[in-house]
Amino acid sequence: MKKPMIIDRSRDDEFMREALSLAAEGARRGEVPVGAVVVQDGKVIGRGFNCPISTHDPSAHAEMVAIRDAAASLENYRLPGSTLYVTLEPCSMCAGLIVHSRIQRVVYGATEPKAGVAVSRGEFFSQHFLNHRVLIEGGVSAEACSQVLSEFFKGRRLKTQGGEAAQGSLES
Ligand SMILES: [Zn+2]
Repeated sequence: MKKPMIIDRSRDDEFMREALSLAAEGARRGEVPVGAVVVQDGKVIGRGFNCPISTHDPSAHAEMVAIRDAAASLENYRLPGSTLYVTLEPCSMCAGLIVHSRIQRVVYGATEPKAGVAVSRGEFFSQHFLNHRVLIEGGVSAEACSQVLSEFFKGRRLKTQGGEAAQGSLES
């Protein structure tokens, strides 16, 4: 018999704060600040922040890095019963990975109107062809999660304004 799914939301804010501090670490390295942690049995087993520029790796999104870290630490390519906390709504690449890794639940902070696929650009996780159901919950610490992004872009614009006519070209 399958074990009943017990969802513990009591530490969501705490784990999201940890994801946020990873996002801030990314910002310090000049990366768009998105952070993620994977939690299993109340323990953080994987950590990541968005770092495609510094690693020359277009797949190095926060979720990807955190899930790889978690799978390596468990020595298991699947992460059943675990929760992914990420500061920004996942993109299509990460959504695919989340299903492949059998994450049980995803908690995200801010929505990503341009590339998010949990709610913004359709509801990927409710596609009928998927062989694994993921529970998606958004809006946890949403304000703090979007603030870290807007501060980063504001800082980048200020830097750019001193330079040549690059205004607007860094808006992504
Ligand atoms: Zn992604």
